[in-house]
Amino acid sequence: MQIVYYPHPSLRFQALEVKRIDSNLRTVVRKMFDLMYEARGIGLAATQIGLPLRLFVINLEADPAAKEDEFVFINPQINKRRGSDTDEEGCLSLPKLFADVKRPEAVVIEAFDLDGQLFEMDLEELPARVVQHELDHLDGAMFTDKVIDQHRDYVDPVLKVFEQTFRQAQASGAYPNDETLINTLREIATSGGVPDSFLTANLAPPAVEIPAGLLRPRRGRNSDG
Ligand SMILES: [Zn+2]
Repeated sequence: MQIVYYPHPSLRFQALEVKRIDSNLRTVVRKMFDLMYEARGIGLAATQIGLPLRLFVINLEADPAAKEDEFVFINPQINKRRGSDTDEEGCLSLPKLFADVKRPEAVVIEAFDLDGQLFEMDLEELPARVVQHELDHLDGAMFTDKVIDQHRDYVDPVLKVFEQTFRQAQASGAYPNDETLINTLREIATSGGVPDSFLTANLAPPAVEIPAGLLRPRRGRNSDG
């Protein structure tokens, strides 16, 4: 399993509900935390590893030792939103790109945990932002769709570099084409679970080199998800 980069079709895929919590799903969740820590993120959605199921993980401390801060959200749903807040975001599927996004400042979210228990959280500020960013991933939305107008001209050329890199890797045969990727996504999504074959798949994303002049430094603390 690997994190996929934009514009992998999984990142534009409408994920479907998890229908069974079994040992394969537990294995995937553990791996998602590991990949997230490796990439120094604080959240990771299943679609970001090419798994089109409604599931994401967070650890706002980004610390593998802080097990008490690990949360798994299965079939999540936001029930209330209030306020509005603009802050910086980053994404593990778009490494090194940071830009401001306006979102509701607080949300009430409910989801199932790995034991199949329904729980609810009333979140504001960073935690609220992270769960909204991750839930967007499950609906095929990226934070770059929502950046504030002032950051649009900065973000678009960076997206173009990611797109060119990905399409070149596909054209050279180093990465599967969209049709193949989408067929696999459809099969997994409709099954509602993690097939054995997914556990052993290990396709590295094409390495992206973004010209330094296109990037601007992160302003705030780590908020990649
Ligand atoms: Zn993201």
